[in-house]
Amino acid sequence: MTTSNRRIFMQLVAISATTGATATALAQTPVMVNEKDPAAVGLGYAADTTKVDAKKYPKYAAAQMCSNCQLYAGKAKEAAGPCPLFAGKQVSAKGWCSAYVAKAA
Ligand code: SF4
Repeated sequence: MTTSNRRIFMQLVAISATTGATATALAQTPVMVNEKDPAAVGLGYAADTTKVDAKKYPKYAAAQMCSNCQLYAGKAKEAAGPCPLFAGKQVSAKGWCSAYVAKAA
């Protein structure tokens, strides 16, 4: 390790020691699904249901969104929540994908 690298390393150690709480909070902040992720692209996921290409997905209907999908595990009134199709990430409550299944009434 060069002197320069050692100095940078020591600065990072100091920063991480002083910002440990922040880093922990960031680590616990759920990551949103990116529409460009391969899995999202494969499922036609859109974070905004109004942006879904209805011609490409003929089963799509404007009222369909993650928050009223059977697979959505988010809490009511929250902007995002987990979906088992995107493990470890969150989908927008107003999102949509081609695996949409209407919640049983
Ligand atoms: S399966 Fe349902 S909750 Fe999951 S991304 Fe698709 S529409 Fe949203």
